[in-house]
Amino acid sequence: MTSPDRARLTIDLDALAHNRGVIAQAASGAEVGAVVKADGYGLGAAIVSRRLHAEGVRSFFVARVSEGEALRAGLGDRQADIYVLDGLPAGVADRLAAARLTPVIATLPQAHAAIGLAASRGGWRVALQVDTGMNRQGLTLEATRALLAEPRGLGSLDVALLMSHLGSATDPGETRNPEQLGRFKAVRALFPGVRASLAASAGAFLGAEYRYDLVRGGISLFGGGPEERPDPRLKAVVTLTAPVLDIRNLQPGDRVGYGSAFRATDPMRVALVGAGYADGVIRAAMGKGHAWVAGALRRLLAVNMDLLVIDIGDAAVGIGEHVELLGQNVLIDDFATAAGTVAHEVLVRLGSRAERVYLGA
Ligand SMILES: *Cc1c(COP(=O)(O)O)cnc(C)c1O
Repeated sequence: MTSPDRARLTIDLDALAHNRGVIAQAASGAEVGAVVKADGYGLGAAIVSRRLHAEGVRSFFVARVSEGEALRAGLGDRQADIYVLDGLPAGVADRLAAARLTPVIATLPQAHAAIGLAASRGGWRVALQVDTGMNRQGLTLEATRALLAEPRGLGSLDVALLMSHLGSATDPGETRNPEQLGRFKAVRALFPGVRASLAASAGAFLGAEYRYDLVRGGISLFGGGPEERPDPRLKAVVTLTAPVLDIRNLQPGDRVGYGSAFRATDPMRVALVGAGYADGVIRAAMGKGHAWVAGALRRLLAVNMDLLVIDIGDAAVGIGEHVELLGQNVLIDDFATAAGTVAHEVLVRLGSRAERVYLGA
């Protein structure tokens, strides 16, 4: 039973499965892995991952060791590789081993630590991240070459995956993409036979050269377009709705909410809606973002912690009815643009107050 008096976050796992298929088609020939860091972009890593596993996904990526441990527990006895992007922070080797997590080695100290573990434990399985021009995580090409040449260097590790990350894949025309691709090709030649992964969601749509063996699907699994704008091939996974608490008439000069965020210049009707930035409606969307009310997009005039004020014009909506704050009519990419951010942040901000309903679980 759902509670109509509360904001409701619906997570449609059938839409998730559909989006996995869209990525698989775009990256045909490559395995589609799933990035479920930050609790599956806030949507529930375990439940999202179990559905993706049922759709054939066998490679999962998380950021933290603790996320990997939780995911291993959530997947139970399902066979899956779980890669930890934080790699090998000090003191976590036994935890990684216990939960069968594969660290993504991305710095020189981590590489040395992994080589030490391989010596003391008779082998150590890792993924290796190289920096091809993002200047974030990853061993430089020079360091990779040097460590590979050492007698007890990278060669002593069981490298399950060679990876890098693109910095500008959301912009297919960026010259940085082929530059990074060229560097990745060079480093890949040093690891014959090792599986390779360069593309996240956006890169999976860039073209055949970028696919390699595995693409790391993140935001596009959850409905975010590869170019940071809506993509009609993808379905909305998340729908956030909240009830109308009251409807008021404003006169010219009336101010709405705190300070002078909005001042009416004409007579207008507004709805007060029971959701706010505590539910993930990012405050910066005030004045720019929209809600879907009775079949039309209507402007968000104010975003408070628990309350929204929406300009509803002549919309035929009644107290107690739900309006859509995110979903197939208010797309996460459009809302993100209105809030000056990316769809990833829209999702991870959704929080835990709204009632959660999973479809297709
Ligand atoms: C977060 C992340 C991804 C997924 O990125 P999306 O843009 O959400 O597809 C892939 N690879 C790495 C290394 C990441 O950190």
